[in-house]
Amino acid sequence: MKSISVKAHAKINIGLDVLRRRSDGYHDVCMIMQSLSLHDDLTIKITDKENISLKSNLVYLPNDRRNLVYKAAALFMEANSIKCGLEINLNKKIPVAAGLAGGSSDAAAALKGLNQLFQAGMSDAELMQLGVKIGADVPYCILLGTALSEGIGERLTPLPPIPDCHILLVKPDISVSTRQVYESLRLDSTTIHPDIEGMKEALVSADLDALTAKMANLLESVTIRMHPVIDDIKKDMIKVGAMNSLMSGSGPTVFGIFRNKSRAEQAYAYFSDNYKHAEQVFLTRPYQP
Ligand code: ATP
Repeated sequence: MKSISVKAHAKINIGLDVLRRRSDGYHDVCMIMQSLSLHDDLTIKITDKENISLKSNLVYLPNDRRNLVYKAAALFMEANSIKCGLEINLNKKIPVAAGLAGGSSDAAAALKGLNQLFQAGMSDAELMQLGVKIGADVPYCILLGTALSEGIGERLTPLPPIPDCHILLVKPDISVSTRQVYESLRLDSTTIHPDIEGMKEALVSADLDALTAKMANLLESVTIRMHPVIDDIKKDMIKVGAMNSLMSGSGPTVFGIFRNKSRAEQAYAYFSDNYKHAEQVFLTRPYQP
């Protein structure tokens, strides 16, 4: 095998709790993650040169070590003492810096793809250990599906899959710095934490009504304070028939969950058709590997 094509799936957080700030600056989190069928595409070719060459369809993304795909490839080659060159093509569809873990997922897909391409025989657990050096969400992006993510994101427990539904994503035309959101977060004894246990129970009983009723993200109020438009989108998402709506990760993407396909399609049309706050809109579904 001289080349391989892999998909890198986006994720949303249906629940996001922050437990504490750690002395190393990271935060201990407790999140329910869900992969989406929305994905980037990566093609990796072995070349007889010695360098890694990365090209993507987005001119503003760096093509060097600052790109998480490059970082993942360099780390994998070093860990497995492989010397040949690589030509990597990245076709991005997942919005960048949107709370959808696009970069982490690209890195995870690169690690998995290279493991297959070189038949290196690394287990998922070994790939996750390598992945967490790139970013806290990379181990989850290796696992995929519905999962509980704890610690800084490296402790993962698969959960029963989310009941079948349609997921509408609306990304407003704003950039959010994950670091700034975490730095502005104030945790004290009055903080109301999301009911992650209740969400787990709703998944076990495959109860989409209970799950969507309990969806919550502790970072949401922080990002909404900086960008009130996120709250406007959430309210409009409910108005057009979503069971519930939430910001993903540190934002700014807002998602809505719909049981009914035609209602989801109507909502997609509403947000795609000159909705003033939307930069990108996607109608997608949960992805289970
Ligand atoms: P998270 O949900 O983990 O917070 P995100 O969706 O907010 O992730 P990404 O799309 O992963 O954010 O991008 C965050 C930053 O990482 C961007 O500023 C971007 O320049 C950089 N980056 C590096 N490599 C990539 C990549 N392959 N795809 C997207 N962004 C990348």
